[in-house]
Amino acid sequence: MEYRYLGHSGLKISEITYGNWLTHGSQVENDVATQCVHAALDSGITTFDTADVYANTVAEQVLGDALKGQRRESLEIFTKVYFPTGPKGPNDTGLSRKHIMESIEGSLRRLGTDYVDLYQAHRYDVETPLEETMQAFADVVRQGKALYIGVSEWTAEQLRAGHALAKELGIQLISNQPQYNMLWRVIEPEVVPASEELGISQIVWSPLAQGVLSGKYRPGEAPPQGSRATDAAGGAKTIEKYLDEDILSSVQHLHPIAEDHGLTVAQLAIAWVLHHPNVASALVGASRPEQIQSNVAAAGVTLDSSTMEAIDSAVGHLAVDDATLTSSPPERLT
Ligand code: NDP
Repeated sequence: MEYRYLGHSGLKISEITYGNWLTHGSQVENDVATQCVHAALDSGITTFDTADVYANTVAEQVLGDALKGQRRESLEIFTKVYFPTGPKGPNDTGLSRKHIMESIEGSLRRLGTDYVDLYQAHRYDVETPLEETMQAFADVVRQGKALYIGVSEWTAEQLRAGHALAKELGIQLISNQPQYNMLWRVIEPEVVPASEELGISQIVWSPLAQGVLSGKYRPGEAPPQGSRATDAAGGAKTIEKYLDEDILSSVQHLHPIAEDHGLTVAQLAIAWVLHHPNVASALVGASRPEQIQSNVAAAGVTLDSSTMEAIDSAVGHLAVDDATLTSSPPERLT
């Protein structure tokens, strides 16, 4: 495993972060979830990402249980706040002071830890003054319940405003968590340049386009049994946008490129996001331990310019790079 600094900070995280969206507390049984976490640890992964909203708080509990007994100082544990949880009342959502101060308590309890390394705003809250949100985050940091602050899917303008307030309050906003992969590149025009200027790294989600960039979904064929595309609990719905015949056909052209480098297509896709210097870590999910064991081999792989060009020839024409697609809900969800 290789490690990178997270933003302009002294915190190092593993190039591959293990995340548990849609899997823990949902698609995957708890014993398999624990095996995945242990496979991640055995592979040198030290960074784990979850959110209070995953499986309506159960995913945090499953991750906390799986990490029990590990040396806390050897882990970086990240979670998030914003989306509605629990009974989903009017204050069980958003980035108000009330919801942040209460949510951190629940997350720490479920994760079985006194602090998280990174506490992230899961989206931008258009209904709460940003000053209120950043003051609450500053208090969470001063109480020692989080060490650093991050955000997710914020625009360049939102990152600038949040970063300025964080600086004023004496806390570190060091990361953004956007979707980024060979097919979804909307952070490139605006979010990445602003982040580079501000000292913010990207921790990128769905680097495999939810499994599509492993090449296992073949055009004209039914999805493999047990894959996310067959997961009625939620996965089948979320992966839908990538199960397009043009995408699936083009992805097949990645096989020879990966083979030339002794990589699987999934490893190539992860190495592709890590090629970007503003990306600190690829946030990968897994429904079974073998996936993690294989995917970690992407850490430390360097891709030369001719390989990057070959990848673009295969799938670049389908890549979405419209900066306006970085957005948060136009109103708080309940
Ligand atoms: P990926 O793109 O890495 O997809 C992971 C899924 O792909 C796995 O669950 C598995 O699904 C399949 N897969 C993984 N490895 C392989 C392999 N080697 N061969 C074949 N299939 C494979 O990421 P996710 O979409 O799961 O997102 C990763 C993490 O990002 C989340 O857990 C979460 O922490 C974070 N995230 C953050 C969001 C945000 O808003 N901030 C939003 C979404 C995710 P299967 O076996 O079931 O097909």
